[in-house]
Amino acid sequence: MQKVTVLGATGSIGVNTLDVIKRHPDDFQVYALTAHSNISLLLQQAEEFKPAYVVVSGDHDSSEVEAKLAQVSSDTRLLSGLEGLVEVAKASEVDVVMAAIVGAAGLLPTLAAAESGKKVLLANKESLVVAGKLMMQAVRDSGATLLPIDSEHNAIFQCLPESYAEQGFSASGIQKILLTGSGGPFRTTPIEELDSMTPEQACAHPNWSMGRKISVDSATMMNKGLEVIEACHLFDIDTDQIEVVLHPQSIIHSMVSYADGSVLAQMGQPDMRTPIAHALSWPQRIESGVEPLDFLAVSQLSFSAPDFARYPCLKLAFDAYRQGGAMPTVLNAANEVAVAAFLDEEISFMQIAVINERTMVAMEGADADSINGLIEIDQKARSLALKAIHDKV
Ligand code: NDP
Repeated sequence: MQKVTVLGATGSIGVNTLDVIKRHPDDFQVYALTAHSNISLLLQQAEEFKPAYVVVSGDHDSSEVEAKLAQVSSDTRLLSGLEGLVEVAKASEVDVVMAAIVGAAGLLPTLAAAESGKKVLLANKESLVVAGKLMMQAVRDSGATLLPIDSEHNAIFQCLPESYAEQGFSASGIQKILLTGSGGPFRTTPIEELDSMTPEQACAHPNWSMGRKISVDSATMMNKGLEVIEACHLFDIDTDQIEVVLHPQSIIHSMVSYADGSVLAQMGQPDMRTPIAHALSWPQRIESGVEPLDFLAVSQLSFSAPDFARYPCLKLAFDAYRQGGAMPTVLNAANEVAVAAFLDEEISFMQIAVINERTMVAMEGADADSINGLIEIDQKARSLALKAIHDKV
């Protein structure tokens, strides 16, 4: 029986994680669930899973939440704020931590889980983008197991040889990592019309049902850019060892191309319960609730190259990683602010990339080798991005 903390339990990944867990009551027990603002869903989840702890990180009235909690799960204790998130991520009783908070807010709890040697299921890609070197060092030092939940990285992990961690990229006979992406809802929209796209249109992803921030990131392909950076850290590679390939059907979740001409692909329905179940049970396999792929119903698989004029955010991510230092931290922070402003209808769709680029130019050369230094850079980038938004770009 493995005890699981779900950070970000009320989000899209959190809900899917609980869906998989409840199919395997003899294998997994929920230790803690965390929410930021959605207290009513958290209480429903507490009633169903009876965790030892729930954590609310956003503003709330503790005595009111405690009173409601007592009615639905009397043995569950309430913790609050970042301290509470860190506590349930590193608690000695916990075996597995699902890191599914959105954005850089997930950094410190995810790092705490890595430092405590947990099996960390990483959905929160932003924590690797912001502090990849420190996170990977923490995993090595503590002996934690880091398993990717992002469907692309989970697919790559499944297509790599078992000896990859010892041998690395070249000695494993790998020629290239092919990172697939659907291209989002605006893949065929005329470029001149992109700037008038609304938050609702941007969040209407053709294949995946996800939180609003990652949905906008998919429309700009910043998501793929963050994933390129995530892949560099996870698999110890450089951006020139990765090729981004547009694959609108989202059936192939990514591929590894080998020196002998073999290309291994992982395929499946676009349903996050597959990578979640894979990582939860690794190295075993368990049922996830996802229907197997029906190849006779898949009419075609198509591929093309992404166009940086349509997806300038994707280019910015390559630039940030190549510039090095803390430039990915800067880009991630600017992007979180810009996406929030777009969702609030303060800026237009194409202005997301403009804000991101301006912030990167203003903070060129930013670097830090401590977590506090990176958090300072993150904060500075956020205020510069906010200023650019208020100055009307
Ligand atoms: P959602 O927006 O659906 O959920 C986010 C979760 O984080 C919620 O539980 C939310 O709480 C919580 N949260 C929000 N802000 C804060 C904060 N400041 N502090 C603490 N907790 C907070 O996001 P997704 O589930 O879509 O994505 C989660 C992560 O997984 C992201 O990093 C994303 O990139 C990644 N991912 C998501 C995929 C998907 O299919 N959805 C696929 C691959 C990766 P509340 O709702 O209570 O406010």
